[in-house]
Amino acid sequence: MLSRIMRMPGQPTRPLLILDLDETLIRATMTHLSHAPDFVVFDYASYCRPFLSSFIAERSTIFDLAIWSAGTPEYVNKITERLFPVQIKPVFVWCRDRCDPFVYRNTEQLFYQKDLEKATTLGYPLSRIVIVEDNPINVQNHSGNALYISSYQGDPSDRELELLGSFLDQLSKHPDFRTQEKRYWRSTSL
Ligand SMILES: [Mg+2]
Repeated sequence: MLSRIMRMPGQPTRPLLILDLDETLIRATMTHLSHAPDFVVFDYASYCRPFLSSFIAERSTIFDLAIWSAGTPEYVNKITERLFPVQIKPVFVWCRDRCDPFVYRNTEQLFYQKDLEKATTLGYPLSRIVIVEDNPINVQNHSGNALYISSYQGDPSDRELELLGSFLDQLSKHPDFRTQEKRYWRSTSL
């Protein structure tokens, strides 16, 4: 492939999987749920989404992993430390300061958008970047790169990451993620 031939030395060869944190990988709340939290950070009881450990471990064999959250650096770094085992290093952990504030006109609600062009400066082409996000507004300018997951509120029977993992592994085989149908990832295979 031309893109392979033209790849510069030092440029990443694996696809990039960017993960949102809150309500995607964890539920962090000041109000404890009926079951015990996995850990507490800055008074937030934090509940990991089921299958999170295996999701990270298995995807790390195929993807370069990254975290991009609209949280503060202190919060995001602390949570990420708890989620990633020492042998798996995210290629970046980006926080609110890397997001672009956006006010939704209908509700005047403030969102923090994630411009995936920023990740291309690290050598990843947009065709090989996928982001998992619970809020479509945060990535509305890159919907072709996005996989939307339900908002995790702490349900211990949630299976989203288990299902999403096998879909992502199939997606990784395609040269351009943006051209693949991703809306029905729970029930279809590529
Ligand atoms: Mg979120």
